[in-house]
Amino acid sequence: MRAQTYLDYNATAKVRPEASAAALAAMAQAGNPSSVHADGRAARALIEDARAEVAGLVGARAGAVTFVSGGTEANALGIKSAVAAGFERLIVGATEHEAVARAAQAAGLAVETWPVNGDGLADLDWLEARLAAGGPVLVCLMLANNETGVIQPVATAAAMVRGSGGWLHVDAVQAAGKIAVDFNALGAHTLALSAHKLGGPQGAGALVAASDASLTPSLRGGGQERGLRAGTENTPGIASFGAAARAAVRDLAEITGQAEWRDALAASATAFGATVLGAGAPRLPQTLCFATPGFSSEVQVMALDLEGVMVSAGAACSSGKVTPSGSASAMGRPDLARFAVRVSGGWASSRADWRRCGEVWCEAFDRAVARRREVA
Ligand code: PLP
Repeated sequence: MRAQTYLDYNATAKVRPEASAAALAAMAQAGNPSSVHADGRAARALIEDARAEVAGLVGARAGAVTFVSGGTEANALGIKSAVAAGFERLIVGATEHEAVARAAQAAGLAVETWPVNGDGLADLDWLEARLAAGGPVLVCLMLANNETGVIQPVATAAAMVRGSGGWLHVDAVQAAGKIAVDFNALGAHTLALSAHKLGGPQGAGALVAASDASLTPSLRGGGQERGLRAGTENTPGIASFGAAARAAVRDLAEITGQAEWRDALAASATAFGATVLGAGAPRLPQTLCFATPGFSSEVQVMALDLEGVMVSAGAACSSGKVTPSGSASAMGRPDLARFAVRVSGGWASSRADWRRCGEVWCEAFDRAVARRREVA
């Protein structure tokens, strides 16, 4: 059988063995975490242990963590809470994930798009001017971009937003587990996390909230999650999230080391005319997004897949279609949007995986050029 090379961790990470084991152990544990008997208390302990681990992932207090169904719900809860707190102006980064962009639109308020520069970095001068333009603002800025891996200057933005009486919501779904995240040092009001991007299960996530950020219930019903998110807890998913968070903290140095393998692949691709998106910005160590004019995202993803190498188009879309990269367009390179591919490693990726991706990509590029010559 041909070797399978999975380099699509930003879409979803391979589940870590610790996370699978924790999910199985939690499923074997009877009891509703709200029940006061022994089994209920044992289930509750699994959730509170996981809360401490997830809090530890971002250096927060355990009490600051509310478990929800994933990154999408965490972002929605943060945004909804700020709107309920009375913020009537919204500023949303130009390269935010749809989970943020659409939740902001759904608030029914005027949304201003915060532009990024050619490297995908949010323009802080623009923010300063807009904050001065009056009225407290809810500002949404992701910590790391899902397509390019570009890391935003969140701490600086938070100081500016706080100084103007605003609320900063941060989507840290792609950053957590790939770079060190310190919630208190960032200074955000709310911060969204998702288990499946760091080796936990799909369908579990968390919103971390500062003590001065008052949250509005996401779902009403039973009083779970301090009344913020009703419904019997997803104990296996939460326990598994906790195990993945602990492992991610342990493995941070290894993930950091992938930057070298990422850069070797970038060097191969740029030698064939590719442009690395966000090359001049700080980026996640395991994410590479590059665009090669004339070599469409779709063709690249399929050519690699035929050889057992799994990557995404710049923007992987939930419908399974390959859509042009929104980040490339926001970065002033709409000409590259149809040609972007994203390679993203994770806890189980090796140097050999990145090398194989580079070899297969170069061969595919050569074949595409040869085909074009035949046609011409
Ligand atoms: N935010 C970012 C930056 C993401 O990349 C994703 C997932 O692709 C989400 C939010 C949504 O997270 P989830 O799939 O857990 O709902």
